[in-house]
Amino acid sequence: MSKALPSPSLFSYDEASALVAAYAAKLARHRPGPRSSAIERIRLDHALGRVLAEPLRADADQPAFARSTRDGFACRATEASTHRPLALAGSTRAGQTSSGPLPRGSVWEIMTGAPIPAGADAVIMLEHVKEFDAHVEKSCAASARSIRLLPPRIIRKGENFIARGAQARKGDKLLPAGSPIGAAQIALAASCGCTSLSVFLKPRVAILSTGDELVPIRSTPGPSQIRNSSSAMLAAMVSAASGEPWILPVARDTAKSLDAALARAASADLLLITGGVSAGKFDLVEPALIRAGARFHFTGVRIQPGKPLVFGEMPRRSKNPVQDQNGAKRCCIFGLPGNPVSSAVTFLLFAAPVVAALAGRSARSPNFARGPRFALARLTEDVKTKTGLTRFLPAACTFSGPTPEVALVSWQGSGDLAAMARANCFLVVPEETNRLRAGSTVRILLL
Ligand code: AMP
Ligand code: MG
Repeated sequence: MSKALPSPSLFSYDEASALVAAYAAKLARHRPGPRSSAIERIRLDHALGRVLAEPLRADADQPAFARSTRDGFACRATEASTHRPLALAGSTRAGQTSSGPLPRGSVWEIMTGAPIPAGADAVIMLEHVKEFDAHVEKSCAASARSIRLLPPRIIRKGENFIARGAQARKGDKLLPAGSPIGAAQIALAASCGCTSLSVFLKPRVAILSTGDELVPIRSTPGPSQIRNSSSAMLAAMVSAASGEPWILPVARDTAKSLDAALARAASADLLLITGGVSAGKFDLVEPALIRAGARFHFTGVRIQPGKPLVFGEMPRRSKNPVQDQNGAKRCCIFGLPGNPVSSAVTFLLFAAPVVAALAGRSARSPNFARGPRFALARLTEDVKTKTGLTRFLPAACTFSGPTPEVALVSWQGSGDLAAMARANCFLVVPEETNRLRAGSTVRILLL
C-alpha cells in the first residue's frame, strides 16, 4: 500500500463522485423498456430489494369507501355540540357495509376501518363523548343510547375519516418504474391486488479478490495467510444495491492468473476486483486490466481509505447480449484497494451507485437513493487529522436521542474488520479540514 503521496492530478472526492453520478445517470437512461427480455415477473413475496420495471397503478380508488380512522361516532359536524344529545341510530364494524343513511340529529357508532354512513361528514372519537341512556321523548317510556360531545371539544367537517379516493384514484400511478421495492412498496402492491410484479433482471456483479496471501473462509490460514473476507462482504453490499453477486475464485498475483480471471469476469455487467491496485511490486491489476482492453475514468481519488481506487470499463464478453442491462457492450470495472475497510468505503461511495443504476433504480426514490447515504450528526469529541484527503473514519452514531450523536470507533487501520463491525457509519472529514470540534455538526456516511 504505497501509492504516491496525494497528487494534485488525482480527482478530489467531489470530482470523482460527480463523474460516477453522471456515469450512473447515463446508464439509467438505457433502462430496458416494458417488453424487454431484461424484465421478469416475480412473486410479491420474493420482490424485496428488486426494482419495479413497470409503474404500479391503483386498481381502485384508495380508500375505496369513506373510511373511519377512529373508533367513535359518525355525525354531521354542524349538529354535534357539547349541549345537544344525539341519538345512536346504528352501528357499523370494520368489514360490515354501512346500512345508513344517517338520520338527522343522530350519530352512528363506527369502528376504525369501517365505512361511514351516507350523510355523515365527521367522526367523533370515542374518548371525546359522554354516552348515556336518554328518554327519546318525555311521553315515551323507552330509553335509547345517546351521546354528547364532552367539553371543551368541537368537531369539524372532515375530521377522523378519509374520503373515498383521497389517497389515490383508480388508475393513478402510485409508483414509477425504477422504484426499489421495500416493505412499504410491497404493502402498496398488495393493497392493489398484485400477487406478482414486473421487475428488472438483476445486474450480474463479478467479485474477484486478488492476492497470494488469501485463503478460502473455511481454511485455516497459514502463518502468512489471511482469509478472503472481502468477497463475502462485497456480495452482501452488492445484494443491498439490487445486484446479483457472482463470487469468482481468488486470482493469484501473477499475470497469467489475473488474465484468466478477467477473461471470465468480462461476461459480467460490472466487475469488482479487490487488491493489487496500489503501487507495490505485485500490484498487477492495472496492467492486467489494460491487457483486457480496459479504459480508465480515473485511477486514484484523494480519499482515505481508498486512494488507489480505479474506475473504468472493458469490453464485455456477453453470453446473452439480449439481456445486457447497460446497453453498450461494456463491463464496468471498479478496482478496489484490498484492505476490507477500504473496499467497503469505496464500494459505498462509488460502486454502489453504478450497481443501483444498472439495476434500473431511479435516482429519485427517497428511501433507497442511488447514491451513498449521508446524514448529519453532532460530534461528541474533537477529531484531528491531516489535510489533503477526504477522510472516512469508522464511527458509531446513536439515533436514540433528539439529535444523532457520533463518535469515532478506535481502529488499527483499514484492515481492522472488528472496528468496522462495531461501527455503523464513517465520519466524513473534508479534504481541507484538519480538525473537527466536539459539538459541531458533521457529515456521516451510513454503513
Ligand atoms: P493490496 O491492496 O492487494 O495491497 O492489499 C492490501 C491489504 O488488504 C493486504 O494486507 C491484503 O492482505 C488485504 N486484502 C486484500 N484482499 C483481501 C481480501 N479479499 N480479504 C481480506 N483482506 C484482503
Ligand atoms: Mg495484494
